[in-house]
Order: sequence, then structure tokens, then C-alpha cells
Amino acid sequence: MKRTARYESRPLNRGKRRLLLDLLDAFSRVKDLALSSLGRVTSWDYLDNPRALRDAMKSRYTPGVPVHLQDQAVFDAVATMRRFVDSCLARAHAKGRVFQRFDGVKRRYAFWLLKRYGHIGAVLRGEAPVPEHFVIAPAERKAVVRFVRRLIRNSLGSPPRMRSHRSMTLDSTLYRVFDHQGRAYVAIASLTKGKRLVLPLRGQGAIHGNIRVVWDPMRGTAVVHMPYEVRVPRKPAAAPAMAVDAGITEVLATNTGEKLGHGYGKLLERLTEQTTKTGKARNTLHQLAKKADATGDIAKASRIRRHNLGGKKLRKRHVQGEAAVKTLVGTAVRQALRTRPAAMVVEDLTHLRGRTKNRKLSRIVSRWARSVLRERLEFRTEAGGSRLETVNAAYTSQTCPVPTCGYVHKDNRHGDRFHCLHCGWDGDADVVAAMNLLSRRDDPELHLGTPKEQVKAILDARFRRRKETP
Ligand SMILES: [Zn+2]
Repeated sequence: MKRTARYESRPLNRGKRRLLLDLLDAFSRVKDLALSSLGRVTSWDYLDNPRALRDAMKSRYTPGVPVHLQDQAVFDAVATMRRFVDSCLARAHAKGRVFQRFDGVKRRYAFWLLKRYGHIGAVLRGEAPVPEHFVIAPAERKAVVRFVRRLIRNSLGSPPRMRSHRSMTLDSTLYRVFDHQGRAYVAIASLTKGKRLVLPLRGQGAIHGNIRVVWDPMRGTAVVHMPYEVRVPRKPAAAPAMAVDAGITEVLATNTGEKLGHGYGKLLERLTEQTTKTGKARNTLHQLAKKADATGDIAKASRIRRHNLGGKKLRKRHVQGEAAVKTLVGTAVRQALRTRPAAMVVEDLTHLRGRTKNRKLSRIVSRWARSVLRERLEFRTEAGGSRLETVNAAYTSQTCPVPTCGYVHKDNRHGDRFHCLHCGWDGDADVVAAMNLLSRRDDPELHLGTPKEQVKAILDARFRRRKETP
């Protein structure tokens, strides 16, 4: 399982800053050049074969900049572009939709297309590549390509480019780590011959392998990100599958009726307030300082800047708020998984759905909180021998969980309570959502890619059928 360790440097002096910013600039220019060529779907074959792109780019490298550094920039561009395509496929629910739409050889062909970036590029150009290991008629190929092309094109945004020149990746040949008088340093070959950029680190750490060096202009430091593999002893699963609903007031509700992570909503509200209020207050102070500048009251302007606009306290409070959320989420997830279920069923946590919108929470905070929850769930399920499974969550909070009923109506839910308007069943709204998520796992018709309207139609039809058969 991959995790990232971060090592911050001490504040860099002017000379070191210059060396670092020059390096970042050279790196980013090559990366952007590679990205601009990868932005065209005609070059997506390179995403399957980064070395070929590197060879093609060599003639456009900047003279005087270490060739190996520029190679890294090209590989980094490929990684960025792959993530862009992957997230587009995920947004389009490409695999789910294809699975639903096709069967037999067409389905096989569609999955074959989605397996390689080069094929996806060909599809976007309207071509229908011929598979090597199985036979499919041209007309069938064209039908599949038409469908997949429309699917992908609709969720394809504009391809990534380099907006800021703030980070670079280095493999182990481009830097060296050493200790001097108990302090750790990272030395990087700079653009000036014979001169090294030496970053003094704050802590100790065994830095090795591929790293990313990120410039933090707010703090005037460089941060070294190092991915590493953690080996978690896997324990066998010990209980049947369960489901959790990601809440707003509490972190999680389980299908067995538990609510975990109390005080979550309050914590997120406070974090939102910190983010927005202090932001507004600081703007006002900036204006005051500027006004003082204009009237020639330099002493007042610098007083405001020094005492009211320092970033240290603000950052500290924010960091504490985030840490509190992380702790609460971590504890809730650990509790939910303590029985070690074979699978943990959740809704798709990569998107913010409408239901999660709480007027008191900013989108940035809710999105961040969901990513924390997802990361914890992924980590803990893997460590506990469970599988994290994502299901279609449409209407799970409005559907009556009683198997003989299943009535769907938005008025079944009143805030935190669920009350079925048809059979009168009562319960906690988030627990109901978790119960329904669990039954979606084995649902023969409702898949991850099933559109919302279709989910509603299927659920309504089932309810009508149940009413007709006494
Ligand atoms: Zn009911």
C-alpha cells in the first residue's frame, strides 16, 4: 500500500531559492512541452510507452539543463496525463456503462479498448482498432466505438497544462542525501556547473527512491515528498459484508444501526468558519494597511501587517482543526471495521453528491473531509483483510428498507428521521441509507453506472409489483 512521507526544509536563503526556482522552471518548461503534445489524442500511444515520448522529445530539450532531469519531466508529464484520462473514465462510469450496454464479444471489445491509452485515443479519433486475439465484425466494432466515444467525450475536460512552476520529480540519481553534525541534507545538482543546491531538512528521515520536491512560497521552504510502501499484516476477514453511510452530523452510520464519530458536524462547521471568516477579516485588514500606505502612515501599515496579518497563528489553528477531523474520522472507521467484515460497502466518495450539501459547510471543507474518509477507509479495509466496494447510492436515503415494501419518496425522509409513507416503518435516516447500500451490493439490476432516473424507474416498478402480489 502506498503512502507519502513529507520532509520540510528549513527556510531557504536567497541564493538557495534562486537555485531551486531555476531548477523548477527548467523542469516545468519541459513538462509543459510534453503535456502540450500529449494534449492531442493522436499522441496517446505515448501514454503506453513513455520512453518513446522521451526519445521523441530529446531534440527539443533545453541545452545546459541535465538531460536526466528533463527525462524525468517527460515521465512526470505522462503520469499527469494518465491521471487525467483515468479520472475522466471514472467520471463517465465508463466500465459500468459499457458492462450494462454490451454483452458477448462487444463487451469484450469495449473492455479491450479501455485497457490501453492508445486505444482510447484511437476511439476519440473515431477509429476502431482491430484486436489481436479475438474476432469481431467491423459493424460491431463501429457500434462499440460510437458508444464509447460519446461516453468519454462528454466527460473529457481540457487537458492539463503547467500553471505554476512549483514542483519536480527526481529519481535517485538526481539527488544525494547526507548527514552533517546530526542534521540531514538533500543535495541536488543545480543548473550551474559544479554547484549543488543543498536543502537543510528539519527532521530526520531515510529519504530514498523517487521523490518530489515542492516549493512552498508561503513558508519559504522546500518540501520533499517521498512515496513509500507500507506492509500491513493482513488479517483474514471474520464477519459478513456490511455497509456504511457517510454522514454530516456523525462520520458514519452502519447498516446495523450504529452511529460513529459524534461531534463531526460541529467540527466541520468550525473549520468552515475558520476558513471563510478569517479570510474576510484578513481582506479588510489588507485594505486598511493599503490605505495607511497611501496616506503615508508607514508605521501604521507595517504595524497592521506585523500584528494582524501574520500567517503563523492562522495556519496553526487550521492545522489543529484538520488534525481533529482526521482523528475523529480515523476512530470512526476503526470502530466500524472492528468485526473485520469481508466487504465494506460505501457510496462513491470521489464525488460530492447533492445530499451532502449543508449550507453551513463550505464545498472545499466537505470535499476535503470526504477525501480524508475515503483514504482512511481504503487503508483500514486493506489492512483488515476487507474489500472496499462502491455501489450506486441513488435514492438510498428515500427508499423504505423493508423488503416487502420498498416504497420510494423524498418525503419518507424528514431530516434525521425516516418514516415510510406507505408502510409506516420508522428509523434513523442515515442507518436506512446504509441498509439500502448493503442490498445494492447484490442487486441484479442496479449497477454503479446505472443513471439516476433509471434507478428510480426500476425501484418504482418493483414497488408496484409487490403491491399487486399480495
Ligand atoms: Zn415501507
